[in-house]
Amino acid sequence: MSLEPPQELLLLHERLRSCRLCQDAGYLHRARPVLTDWGMRRGMMLIGQAPGVVEFDNGTPFGGRAGRELFRWLASVGIEEMEFRHRVYMCAVTRCFPGKSPTGNGDRKPSRPEIELCRPWLESILRILEPRVLLLVGGLAIERYLPGRRLDSIVGRRYEHEDQILIPLPHPSGASRWLNAREHRELLRDGLRQVRDLWDTVVDPAPEEPAERLPAPATVVR
Ligand code: SF4
Repeated sequence: MSLEPPQELLLLHERLRSCRLCQDAGYLHRARPVLTDWGMRRGMMLIGQAPGVVEFDNGTPFGGRAGRELFRWLASVGIEEMEFRHRVYMCAVTRCFPGKSPTGNGDRKPSRPEIELCRPWLESILRILEPRVLLLVGGLAIERYLPGRRLDSIVGRRYEHEDQILIPLPHPSGASRWLNAREHRELLRDGLRQVRDLWDTVVDPAPEEPAERLPAPATVVR
């Protein structure tokens, strides 16, 4: 299995960076897709919901507070942030910051039309990378594959979907109170153990000499 980033995905990124579909359609004040050319490997891929305002500023997927929580979870099963970023392609159901929620509780959930506008990008990336394992982080990503399921009935388990293994995880943003319950935190631990169990066998090794360093994740808290 080649460890070179797929050329097709690098070319797709060039086009994705200039996507303004949601801005042109009036859904976003300013479109700015958040992506890096890191982690373009075929073993494991993460699908989140949408970037937050910190990611909008620094251009790094999971580069804000939710990312810090996600990497704290992963560290609890022995997976370090930089290793994960090198080895896992991190994307989202929509690739631009959707703005703050009108209720003031976290970020706005991308609308169905925005998800549909962004869907072809995600479909193309899935077709190119053909990941063996998909980490589904948060409700929108889970809804795509496991519609209508309650978090407490699916977190902690793994699912087979065609040739892929699905691992659903709650979103680490802190906007949800789901993890306040002890039994839910135990389900999360079970889910992270599923990630760990697959880590050494499914995920490509990191390149020995990365071509560039990722910008340090932001420490801004808003
Ligand atoms: S969310 Fe997706 S479809 Fe919408 S402007 Fe951003 S990259 Fe384009």
